[in-house]
Amino acid sequence: MRKIRYAFSLVEHVGEKSLPLVKVGDRVLRGELIGDTKGRGAKIHSSRNGVVVDITPTHIYIDVDEGDLEKKDYLKIKECDSLWETALEAGIIGAGGGGFPTHLKLKEKKVSALFINAAQCEPNFFHNVETLKNLDTLHNVLWGSVFTAQAVEAEKIYFCIKGIYSKIIKKIKTYMEDKREFQKIEILELEDLYPVGEERALINRATDSWIPSHELPHMHNSLVLNVETVKNLYMAVKYRKPLMEKDITLIGNFKNRARIKTYLGIDIGLPLKAIAGDSSELSKTLEYPLGEFLEGGANTGKSSSLEEVYIEKISGGGVFTLPFPQFRGKLGLLVCACGGDEKRLREIGGKMSSEIVGVQHCKNIGERGKCETPGKCPGQAEAVLKLKKSGAMRVLVSTCTDCTNTVMRAAIPMDMGVYHSTDHIYRTFDYPITRDREEEKCQ
Ligand code: SF4
Repeated sequence: MRKIRYAFSLVEHVGEKSLPLVKVGDRVLRGELIGDTKGRGAKIHSSRNGVVVDITPTHIYIDVDEGDLEKKDYLKIKECDSLWETALEAGIIGAGGGGFPTHLKLKEKKVSALFINAAQCEPNFFHNVETLKNLDTLHNVLWGSVFTAQAVEAEKIYFCIKGIYSKIIKKIKTYMEDKREFQKIEILELEDLYPVGEERALINRATDSWIPSHELPHMHNSLVLNVETVKNLYMAVKYRKPLMEKDITLIGNFKNRARIKTYLGIDIGLPLKAIAGDSSELSKTLEYPLGEFLEGGANTGKSSSLEEVYIEKISGGGVFTLPFPQFRGKLGLLVCACGGDEKRLREIGGKMSSEIVGVQHCKNIGERGKCETPGKCPGQAEAVLKLKKSGAMRVLVSTCTDCTNTVMRAAIPMDMGVYHSTDHIYRTFDYPITRDREEEKCQ
């Protein structure tokens, strides 16, 4: 029988890496604990029956029989007395990409407000939204929210979702109607701007005040959990199910295939090519020469080789992008805390065939490398002027929408073209690029 090689990351979460509990040659079962942590980390469970074939400092590799892929039974986690213990036993970490161990958030202290983050911040990632369309999974999310609010004694639950999803909002409201248990839940409608789902931006939307970048939501009586994390908590409480599955979105223009496809409940550890096909097959069906395979969303993803990507607890999916724009001239970089970092901008600049002559960081980046007011621009004229002085003819930015508009207002009068790190990605799926004005010189 054909085998599929799975890889389970020991390092995907925030905190200490997990240590393998298995050795090469061991046969493991679906749901079995294969990695654990002695400190602030996360437990790792196998998502399939199989045999351990390799262990590296970062991964446990398990060969799975293709015939076993449909099996639904699993080893259950032990019964726990509290939600934080359940999260610990189930190996739940932040599903939105942060990867912070959820049991640590739940254990911190009681809070007054729970924020359920369904913002799906990265444009055209739809897997969270897809979860809410289905009545069964919507049920799990809403009850998961109620369980969590009870556990942390929150008086209020803000369910945060972009206002553009009006049909889904209506569906959620209809589902909650007249149910006493959901009275604490208020829908918080968000703008369709990046990074509207940043946790401090969500809290600001509800309270009109900013948590300083060096402080955490629990210091301000708030807890923010991704909508998929809450769904995973529900499954762990109700069915004693360890975290073995992930929802993702894949985007690319293929002949005879949907441009954007969501996949719910994909095995953690599965090689992505088992879903997407391998690179040589894909290149034949892609409607344009591949720019890059971007693992993750447009703003925070990283360029990867499809062959090396395995589904992780923090995977969001990926984009098969259009080619990079080309500019064989002097380029300045402006780095944002919530978008591509300097390394990513240098990578893009290199693929644009540009010469990088200067780097500036948004002045809103605080001491711990986080933005003070995500999505609210402090003004970028000074940074653009410095890049001009360093010889830049054009600028490449990873800034938020608000800041990119400020960059445009400063750069265009100085005859400097502006590229955003997401341009070639957004153009892949016809999403409006990150600025209000688009000049010909920036193509
Ligand atoms: S204000 Fe600056 S650091 Fe903050 S999100 Fe906008 S560009 Fe990024």
